[in-house]
Amino acid sequence: MFNAKFNYDINKIEGIYQIKIDIPWAVKFVSLYLFELDELNILIDSGLNIGTWQKKLFSALKDINFTIQDIDYCIITHMHTDHIGNCLNLKQKNPELKLLMHDITHELLKWETNDENLKELKQEAREIANQLKKYGISEEQGNRIVQFFTYWPRFLQYQYPDIIVHDGDTVLDRLEIIWTPGHSFGHICVFDKKEKYLFSGDHILSRITPHIGNFVVPEYLAEEYKGYDFDNILKHYLASLDKIDKLNPKIIFPAHQEIIFNPHERILQIKEHHKNRLAEISSVIKDNPLTAYRISQIHFGEDLDEMNSYMALSEVLGHLLYLEAQEKVKTIEKNGKLLYYC
Ligand SMILES: [Zn+2]
Repeated sequence: MFNAKFNYDINKIEGIYQIKIDIPWAVKFVSLYLFELDELNILIDSGLNIGTWQKKLFSALKDINFTIQDIDYCIITHMHTDHIGNCLNLKQKNPELKLLMHDITHELLKWETNDENLKELKQEAREIANQLKKYGISEEQGNRIVQFFTYWPRFLQYQYPDIIVHDGDTVLDRLEIIWTPGHSFGHICVFDKKEKYLFSGDHILSRITPHIGNFVVPEYLAEEYKGYDFDNILKHYLASLDKIDKLNPKIIFPAHQEIIFNPHERILQIKEHHKNRLAEISSVIKDNPLTAYRISQIHFGEDLDEMNSYMALSEVLGHLLYLEAQEKVKTIEKNGKLLYYC
């Protein structure tokens, strides 16, 4: 069911409503999922809080004879604004709605939306920018990265969740919470154990591999998750893929792009993609020391806009740090820049 006025689309697959609403960035739309479980209505993700987006969601709900008051639970997959941005509004419209998110997502939301932490947030972003300068970006690019990390939280609003979940928790008797760090530190997938359906958020998408990059994390949280290797995010991401593969899901409902009816095959494709990228990067730096930034330019081209060149750099970096942890690449420092080679 396509609504031309508001540019959203609603489909029903195996009793699950997919509500696709357009968003103003490259992935084009975000899908929220709505389904009934033991007479309770569950919504996966809240969508974003920009412009008329909320109106579109309410209009879409109306088209399928729902109102926001009918929603009993809203489960947030991760911290990004197209998934969590609307949660305060939903709670305000329906205080009975139970909001559920992972512990890390909650801590990050609380931290990033508190103005008192702006200084620390800037400092953490500055540290990341300084590190990225060593990887080859310019002073100005570094400044813009600090701006980027301090700009996005403006689209977030704090809402205390009714339920805070951890890896392996089961809610409503059959929805298992799978912590899948990689795309975002607190990212979760929701697995319906009975139907073997997986709501994958941005962890597994049908056509692209999700961005894997740096997380800005406050010190207290980094301390709490000390065992987590923040330098090797690709390792966590790949381990998170294996975690999902073991569950043997029947259908994957992702937050962007198409529904995935061949989960195992898609997981293999994504793993293959990373394997190939690891090999490609290795061949570029064979006896040819280069900065991560230069490698990203060779790999993805030099005419990318600011946002995409940053994404390209963090993608390459994710792979380099993965190779470094396995001692498959070496580094030398030259004029304050870190060069990778093998
Ligand atoms: Zn997303």
